[in-house]
This record gives sequence, C-alpha cells and structure tokens, in this order.
Amino acid sequence: SGYHRVLEENRKLYNQVQDLKGSIRVYCRVRPFLSERSSYVSTVEHIEDGNITIGTPSKYGKGCKSFTFNKVFGQSVTQAEVFSDMQPLIRSVLDGYNVCIFAYGQTGSGKTYTMVGPKDLTEENQGVNYRALGDLFVLAERRKDTFRYDVAVQMIEIYNEQVRDLLVIDGSNKRLEIRNSSQTGLNVPDASLMPVSSTSDVIDLMNLGQRNRAVGATALNDRSSRSHSCLTVHVQGKDLTSGTILRGCMHLVDLAGSERVNKSEVTGDRLKEAQHINKSLSALGDVIASLAQKNTHVPYRNSKLTQLLQDSLGGQAKTLMFVHISPELDALAETISTLKFAERVATVELGAAQVNK
Ligand code: ADP
Repeated sequence: SGYHRVLEENRKLYNQVQDLKGSIRVYCRVRPFLSERSSYVSTVEHIEDGNITIGTPSKYGKGCKSFTFNKVFGQSVTQAEVFSDMQPLIRSVLDGYNVCIFAYGQTGSGKTYTMVGPKDLTEENQGVNYRALGDLFVLAERRKDTFRYDVAVQMIEIYNEQVRDLLVIDGSNKRLEIRNSSQTGLNVPDASLMPVSSTSDVIDLMNLGQRNRAVGATALNDRSSRSHSCLTVHVQGKDLTSGTILRGCMHLVDLAGSERVNKSEVTGDRLKEAQHINKSLSALGDVIASLAQKNTHVPYRNSKLTQLLQDSLGGQAKTLMFVHISPELDALAETISTLKFAERVATVELGAAQVNK
C-alpha cells in the first residue's frame, strides 16, 4: 500500500541519513579546460576514489601532492552524476533536517556551474539548485497520501558584510538583518519568502534572482564573483496521520571567489571587498574546524555568512563543502591553497572519527 511504501522509503532514507548524520563531507570537482587547445597541461595528475594528486611539470621543479576527500569528480563528470551523489543529503530536508551545501573555490573554477549551471541553461546542464528543488517536488508528490509539504524559497546576497534580498520585484535595495530564530526557521525574516510548487516557479525565481544580482554588478564589474549568494529552501511537512509538523531548511551557497588578492596591487573598493571576503571565508573555515573538533564554543558571530548558516552548520545539520579547482597551470597556487583549506576540514573530521572508534 501507499503507506507501506512511504514507510519503506523513510526507512531507507533514515539509513542514508544515519550515514551522514553530524558529519561534514567534503567533495572536490575539477573544471574541464574551456577550449580544445591540446597544448593545455593539467595540474591534475591522478584521480582515484576520494584521492586527487596534483603535480607540477618538471620545468617548475617536478613534485606532486595528494589530497583525500569523500569524493572527487573529474573533468568529464556530468551535472546529473554530481547531483545523484548529493541526493540523499538533499532529500533529508523533507524529514526535517537542516542541510548546508556550499561551493568554494577561486573565481572561474566552476562554483556557479555546479550550483546553477552555465549561461546557456538546458535541462541537461542545470545545476544543483534546480535539480534539488525538482527532486523535492517529486518526492513530496510520492508521499502525498501521508504528508503535506509546503516549500518556499529565499535568495539573498552578502556583499561587503551587507545582506541584500535578490527576490525583490521593484529593485529596492534595502539592507537586511540576520536574526536567528529557530522558532520560524527564518534567519532573514525580512527577505522575500516565495512559495514554490513546480519547476517552472523555480525557474522564474532563479531568473529574477540572477537579474537582481546583475543589477548590483553595474557599479563594479563582475561583482557576483565577489559576493556570496544563497538560495534557502524552507520545507514544512505535515504528517497527515498524527498532525505533527516537521521543518527542514537547506542553504545552497555559491561563495565569493577564494583567490588571494595581492594587497599591494589593490586599493579602495577592491581592497575593502577583498578584506571582507577573506574575513568571511576564514570565519567559515574556523566554524567548520571548530565543529569538527567538537569545541563547545563555535565562533558563528564572526561574519554575516556564518551567522546566516548557523542553523545549518553543526548539531544535527548536515554540511557538504564542495570545493572546485581549475586544472590550468597558472591556477596552481590557488588550487593548492583551495585543497589545503578543504583538507583542513576533511582531516579534522577524520581525526574525530578515529577517536570515536
Ligand atoms: P565560478 O563560479 O567559480 O567563478 P563558473 O561556474 O562561472 O566559475 O565557471 C567558469 C566557466 O567555466 C564558465 O564559463 C562555466 O560555464 C565553465 N564551466 C565550469 N565548470 C564546468 C563544467 N564542469 N563543464 C563545463 N563547463 C564548465
């Protein structure tokens, strides 16, 4: 019967969720080369399971370094394959879990491609944001005899430690406050909250959000790589038998580019932006490291980004840090620095798991 099917599905999901519970997972994806030039030399020497080996060609002093994560996706992996690995995590939102997925990496490494997709969007190359919501709708429909789900989204941008609503229709640019409230589950209560029930609703809102992001970009070119953007999915599920209400929340975050800006080369606005980005990305790293070490004090309040994600980092929440790297030789220094940042998170977690044995 439908009821047993749902129970069985819940049990399966529960087992998958148990595997993920309380853990911080780290994935890595390598962007393909952007043109067919055969002269390109990749700094990625080898990928196997969760291992990636980065090499430097001999004329730069040959050497290599390996890193281990939960998963490494090579250049030929499709959007569908990437999504299918994240599916159990995303689906757990319907069972009332809080989830946070964030894309980290230097500008041009493929963060937006993974989360949103390329400019010429097709069904095949849609990123995680579209697929996640589409999948939640499918699963909610399958459970409709036993649960009633309401799904709503918010989309905001953090730029220079200021929070902006990306789902406004009138182009207003009001500064928003972050006020963590576990009661409503809304951390930014003044940001537009839009109910969605179909993939076409999602496409409309994503388009609105991208347009509003671009408006902000006129003053300074390509501001989008210097701001964090976050799609938040709020789910409320009512168990039709018991009347119990479940709430889950998922943040899908496309972070600002992590590249180190040479402080001697920039001044004014660019320097200020760079300082804000460095501050918030290191605050994120500190929060995650402190969670992984199971510290009692977690420094959420050090940046707007970590305040925003507070409910979805730590505790019972499930976090996926998705790092991106560019394969080109001229990106080598940033690639190593990205992988070291990720490794700091991954190894600490591994260490904690060993202590528990
Ligand atoms: P970021 O968000 O990190 O700045 P983008 O997602 O904008 O980087 O990616 C830079 C360019 O590379 C874009 O033109 C994007 O479409 C392309 N790209 C990134 N990842 C892939 C991929 N896996 N497959 C094909 N093209 C990609």
